[in-house]
Parts: sequence; structure tokens; C-alpha cells
Amino acid sequence: MLRDFARHVVHVEAKRGRQAMVVEKIDAATWCVRGAERTLTLTITVYALDQSVRGAYLDRRRGYFNGPCLFLLPEGRDADPIEVTLEPPPHSICEEWRVATALQPGEVNEQGFGAYRAADYDELLDHPVEISEFESVQFEAGGVPHHLVMAGRFETDLDRVAADLQQICTTQIEFFGLPAPFERYWFLGLAAGDGYGGLEHRASTSLIFSRDDLPKIGDEGQSRDYQRFLALASHEYFHTWHVKRSKPAAFMPYRLDRRNHTRLLWVFEGITSYYQDLMLLRSGVLGMGAFLQRIGELLTRVYRTPGRFKQSLAESSFDAWDVLYRPEAHHPNTTISYYTKGAMVALALDLTLRLQTADRVSLDDVMRELWRRYGARGVGVPEDGFERLAAEVSGIDLARFFDDAVRGTEDPPLASLLGEFAVSLELRASGGADDRGGTPRALNGEVLALGAVCRERGHGLELTSVLDGGPAQRAGLNPGDVLIAVDRLRVTDRNLRRRLARFESGESVTATIFRGDELLEVGLVLKLAPFDTCYLVAGEQAAPDALRRRLAWLGE
Ligand SMILES: [Zn+2]
Repeated sequence: MLRDFARHVVHVEAKRGRQAMVVEKIDAATWCVRGAERTLTLTITVYALDQSVRGAYLDRRRGYFNGPCLFLLPEGRDADPIEVTLEPPPHSICEEWRVATALQPGEVNEQGFGAYRAADYDELLDHPVEISEFESVQFEAGGVPHHLVMAGRFETDLDRVAADLQQICTTQIEFFGLPAPFERYWFLGLAAGDGYGGLEHRASTSLIFSRDDLPKIGDEGQSRDYQRFLALASHEYFHTWHVKRSKPAAFMPYRLDRRNHTRLLWVFEGITSYYQDLMLLRSGVLGMGAFLQRIGELLTRVYRTPGRFKQSLAESSFDAWDVLYRPEAHHPNTTISYYTKGAMVALALDLTLRLQTADRVSLDDVMRELWRRYGARGVGVPEDGFERLAAEVSGIDLARFFDDAVRGTEDPPLASLLGEFAVSLELRASGGADDRGGTPRALNGEVLALGAVCRERGHGLELTSVLDGGPAQRAGLNPGDVLIAVDRLRVTDRNLRRRLARFESGESVTATIFRGDELLEVGLVLKLAPFDTCYLVAGEQAAPDALRRRLAWLGE
């Protein structure tokens, strides 16, 4: 997505010596100063109240910035080396502030304030900076110093978090091969009340997550919440190779002012989403059961999205600029995420390779060769590069696989593939709004559903999406309608399932809705809820071949 950072620039002034110069804005993100042959001092003031990993933020407790929010580029000087000086804010309240960044330090004081250097503009932009009273732990992985920095309010055993990250980092460095392609690495974390996201950089990552995702002091197991945190860190760390270095040729160089189209985003985000969890398993911070549960949740997200029958992975990648971060109510019916379906296809590809080569080749081999051939050498991956490489490394004809999985819209045959690895794929109806799948759940009798995604709103349920072919769509309901009552009895998020359970599939009931300020009644013909919720079960009684394959795949 194109982010319009320039709209937060609230003031620009220029001086040549002491002489003020006229600054003329010539497009949305460009300013022109005429007659400044020698040294020009340009000062910009930026509004900074965006706590997200992509933003810039400053209050009396914390400063953070992602380079593109703050740094103007003198036109045509992309390749020049740059020095940045970070000065502490003058307030006494900020006396304990320190600086955390993977930028190359020059002359800096004990707290990290002072001069930093970047070889060029691209390097400057790729090093976010945290400035606050954070906590930090240092550890080593693959011979490289790593820093875990945690800002915000939280209570956790940071040494334990660092120990888990160390295992994950070591596993990933060994996966791609020593030495690691960076000399230092920084995890810049922000523990917030809510929120979940990360942004990858060449020698660091910015993470935002719920403070409740961090383990309680004294806790030993991996709670579901803590798994979420570890998966996020694992995902962004994997990008250090696969996205920051191995990347589509279409991104080399990045053109920051326009859409850079590629059909390969599924290769980069989807495969990373598969490996984020696989790396948790291989590093030993997650067991097979927890891994299969996470994959079950992932597949559930795909199976609940009818848009996968309309949009292919290649199209999803290509259209990313205008779809993924600009959600519309119709998207569940018309689009599919290249993250989730990409991970599903990565899983199918891994199993296909293992099965068809009798465990001689797996997706690991393709990923390592992609790294050696492209990422490690700074060569961009051409649009057909991944598919050709997978066929070459495995020696099998994958044309049909990619036609179906990437350019087609059929689901890959995961149930039969997983069966060959002694894992059964089970499907059931959703047990309600809090049901993310991944586990079995006993549901009393048949489940009826509206065929809509809802959220609690005022005195009813707002339909945020109306799914293709479901009862709500057939009754003519729209996204934005607020469902007040079914059979003239009030419904809420909590009682909807029980209310619907009073009826039979095929029965017509009266639904009362607000559309804007108009109260309407429509006939709703109820249907059985689709089996769109998935969980995986590792079988113990499977054929020896299947058990052997699972052992090679998951280590159990
Ligand atoms: Zn990612």
C-alpha cells in the first residue's frame, strides 16, 4: 500500500545561511527551493501521533519513528551517505530515555544519543528508531549480537522471552546457512493494550502486540497468546532473508511513489506465514500439537473466505496495493489474502514435494536455493523464478500444481495430502464468533447460521460482511444492516446461535433490521452452517509409511 507520509508534514522552512528562502510545494510530497546553490538548511515539522510500526510517535513517555515518516530526500541524492544526529528532548521527564536502533552508530553517548550513519537513503529508511525508557536484553544467535527491546507498559520475564527468541533465531540462521547476512539485529517491541503487527527491516523489526501476549512471570508453558507473540517475531525475522534480501525483481529498486506490481507476494508473505510456525516447531518452542492447531486456525481463515473461489493467489498478489490494507465489506466474497492462502499453498507444496520425491526434496531445499541464487547475491526473483526453481530443485513437473494453486481458484487437496503424513484434516461448523478453529468442539445438534460476519453494535448485530450464497444474502440483507431481532425476539452476539437453534434448516423466520434509520422486516430462510472450521489430528494408527513421512516433516 502506498502510505502518504507527507500529509503529516505540517511545516517546512528553508534557510541559506541566515537568509530565509521561499519554499514551494510542487506535488503531494515534493518541495522546491530555488537559488540554493550551496548549503541549504531545510527544517520540517512532522505531526507524530501514530503508534503503529509504520508511523512516527512522540509524547512525554516515548518517541518512535519509521524513517519514511521523517526523512526527506534531496532529489537525485539517493546514493549519498547520510549522517543523522539524534538529540534528546529538552524535558527533564525524558532524562532516562535511551536510543535503540540497528543504524550504524558514530559518536554517541551512553544513552545512544548522537550521530548515526547510513550508506545511502535506502539504508536510512530501513532502520526504525525507538527512544524511550525501554527495557532490553541482549543475546547471541549464530555468532550475531541480538537485542530485544521492549517499550510500553508490561510485566514479564524478559530473559525467558529472549531465551525463546534466541532458539528461534538460531534455528533460522542455521536454516539459511551461516554466516547470517547481518552483523547485528534488533527486535523493537511495543507492548500495547491492543494491536498486533510487525514490520520487517534488514537488521531489525518493529513489533506491536498486546501486553497480555507476554508470558506471566513464573509461567512455563506456551499459552496461545504467547504463541501469537512468538509467531509474529518468527515471521518478521524470517523476512530478514525472505523479503528483505530475496525479493521480487519488481521491487528492485523500490519505487516509493507508485505501485510496484508483482504476482509473487504469496511466495514472500504466504511462505513466510507457513515457516513462521514451522520455525517455532523446529526450534522446540512449540510442540507438534500446538503447531497443528495453529495450522488448523490458518486453514479455517481460508475456508471461511468464499472470495478464494473468485480471486487467485496471483491476482491477490497483483491487486494487493488496493485491497489488503483497504478492506471493503465485499472483500470476503471477492478476494483472498495472499498471506493465508499463500501459507496454505506453501503447506500443500511442501507436502507434494516430500511425497513425490520420497522425502528427497522438501520446500526447505527450494527456499535455501532461492536464497543462494537470489537473496544472497542481491538478484531479484523474476516473476516465473520461484516456480521454475521449485521444478528444477525437485526434478518434478509442477506446472499443474501451480496452475491450480496459484492461477486457479480450487482448494489444494490438503485432506488427501495430509493423510499421506498421518494427519487427518477435519471440518465442522463454527461454534460462534469466538471460534477460530484449530480444535474440535462439541456442538449440540445441527448449527444454523446467518451467512454473515457480525459485530455487536448498539442494540443489535451489525453485518460487516454478507457471505455469498448464505441466508442473509438470499434475504437481501446488506453489509451495514443492523440485525435487531429474529422471530421478533432480540438477538445479541451471545444468544444468536441459541435463538437460531430453535428453528429447522429450511424454515423461514422474520428478521428485523435497521438499514440506516429505517426499520425493516425480511423473511430469512435458515440453512445449516457450512463446515468451514478446520482442525488437524495426528493419527497414531496410520500406515508406517505415513508415520515415517510425518516424522521427517514434523519430527514426531
Ligand atoms: Zn510478512
